[in-house]
Amino acid sequence: MPKRSTSPPRPLRLVCIGDTHGFHRRLILPPGDILIHAGDFDGRTLEQVDDFNAWLGTLPFRHKLVISGNHDLLFDRKPELARAHLTEAIYLQDSGVRLEGLNFWGSPVNSVTGWAFAVERGAQIRRHWDLIPEDTDVLITHEAPYGTLDKNDIMSRHQGCQNLLGAVRRVKPKLHVFGHIHGGYGRESAWNMTLINCAVVNNQRVLANAPSVVDLAP
Ligand code: MN
Ligand code: MN
Repeated sequence: MPKRSTSPPRPLRLVCIGDTHGFHRRLILPPGDILIHAGDFDGRTLEQVDDFNAWLGTLPFRHKLVISGNHDLLFDRKPELARAHLTEAIYLQDSGVRLEGLNFWGSPVNSVTGWAFAVERGAQIRRHWDLIPEDTDVLITHEAPYGTLDKNDIMSRHQGCQNLLGAVRRVKPKLHVFGHIHGGYGRESAWNMTLINCAVVNNQRVLANAPSVVDLAP
């Protein structure tokens, strides 16, 4: 008997990592459909980008999405060169892609002065967040949204971006993946969405956290 076509689509397994800071080859990644890297792989030199790219090429995911973080300086200083060497991933920079029924959007902008993709909070950074389309299902940013998984330790203040929080509440993606605040690693549900800080290194920049896995139905 033919199967009825009313069954819901199979969820996609997303494996999320960020802030690998040169330790990518030491990661043990679970299987999945789509790999997401939320920035800070340490793409400062062409050699570092080439090594990261070669490692990505060994991974069996159907799609690999990468954004930059404040440490990925080559993508800011020599964007054409850097991007030409990242052949094994889809690179998002205030841009999006539709994959297997899900809309992804990625942005590297952050408020760490003097590093890569630094943009002042307020009106300037809001110009970037305003670009996020309303139909985004998965938002990938390096910066954390204010108030969620954005503290380096329990006593510290929130370090996330208020303007990004505003954008997240406007767009209401199914999933927001970010990193940058290493001590904020974890997962929370809020406003009918999932927020994941996927930083795999801790505050001492020691590889300490597992890749984050999330199943998402298109
Ligand atoms: Mn980092
Ligand atoms: Mn960072």
